[in-house]
Amino acid sequence: MKIDFTKNSDRLVPAIIQDANTKNVLMLGYMNEEAYQKTLDTKTVTFFSRTKNRLWTKGEESGNFLKLINIQLDCDQDTLLISVDPIGPTCHKGTDTCWGQENVQDFGFISGLEEIIQNRKNQAEGKAPIEEGAKPSYVSSLFQKGINKVAQKVGEEAVEVVIEAKDNNDGLFLDESADLLFHYLILLQAKGFKLNDIVEVLKTRQKKS
Ligand code: AMP
Ligand code: ZN
Ligand code: ZN
Ligand code: ZN
Repeated sequence: MKIDFTKNSDRLVPAIIQDANTKNVLMLGYMNEEAYQKTLDTKTVTFFSRTKNRLWTKGEESGNFLKLINIQLDCDQDTLLISVDPIGPTCHKGTDTCWGQENVQDFGFISGLEEIIQNRKNQAEGKAPIEEGAKPSYVSSLFQKGINKVAQKVGEEAVEVVIEAKDNNDGLFLDESADLLFHYLILLQAKGFKLNDIVEVLKTRQKKS
C-alpha cells in the first residue's frame, strides 16, 4: 500500500478507526510510517501520538487494544480507514466511541422505519399532530387496538413465515418475512423498546459463550 505521507509537514496521516462489526466510527488518530508498519506487524493499532510525541499503541495502559482487521486507503492515498475489533471501550472516558454513546449503532433504513413507527404511536396517543387530509394510518390503528392485538399480529405473521418456509416460493417467503419484521418492530415499540435493545441482549450472550 502506497501511502502519501508527504501532504503533512510532520509526515502524519489521519487514521479513521471503524468497528468492523457495527461500522461505528470509534476514534481518529494519526500515523507516521513507523506507526503504520508497527500496526501491520503487530496486528494491533499503533498511532503516533502528537501529545505524547511518540508511538502510542492504543490500549497500552488500559488494555483496550484495537485489533487490526483491515486497512483501506482513500482516493488520494492520504487518509486511512482502519476497521478493527475493539477490545473494550475505545475512548478513555469509557464510551465505545470518542463521540460518546449517542451516535452508536445505527440500523440505517430500519432506524428510519422505527422513527416512523414511533411517530405513528405518538399520533395514536394524541401526542403528535396528524397531517391535514392524511389517510388513516394502519400502524396507528394497530397501536390503538392495544398491545394484545399487535402481539397477535406478530404471531400470525410468524406462522405465515413458517408456512412459506416450507414452500419453494422465495417471493412469498421474503414478503412474509418483511411482514414479520415490520410487525415485530411495532410490537417492540408498543413495549417501549427498539431493535437495538434486543441487539444489546444478544451481545451480552455472545460475551458469555
Ligand atoms: P490506552 O492507550 O487506552 O491505554 O490509554 C492511554 C492514554 O491514552 C489515556 O490515558 C489517554 O490519555 C489516551 N487515550 C486513550 N484512548 C484515547 C482516545 N480514544 N482518544 C484520545 N486519547 C486517548
Ligand atoms: Zn484523501
Ligand atoms: Zn476519546
Ligand atoms: Zn403476512
